[in-house]
Amino acid sequence: MKHFCPNDPKHAQFHTFAHVMQEWLVDADGDYIETSDEELQISAWPDDGNIWNCATCGAEATTTPPREEQEKAPRRGRSR
Ligand SMILES: [Zn+2]
Repeated sequence: MKHFCPNDPKHAQFHTFAHVMQEWLVDADGDYIETSDEELQISAWPDDGNIWNCATCGAEATTTPPREEQEKAPRRGRSR
């Protein structure tokens, strides 16, 4: 499913969450020492149900395509 910035259709990058598994080095109690493998496996790709925020302006993305009519709105008030 495509996502759209409500402010500007040219904004095409978003911040959302993917679930990535890491391998950790831990002590006998399971406490973290260090990351031994940073990206072992992606357990879940970004989900349409997540909140997607525009990487350019921060607006919450929508899955509804922006209307082109908004740019074609009639101009008023200036006659030359
Ligand atoms: Zn944006």
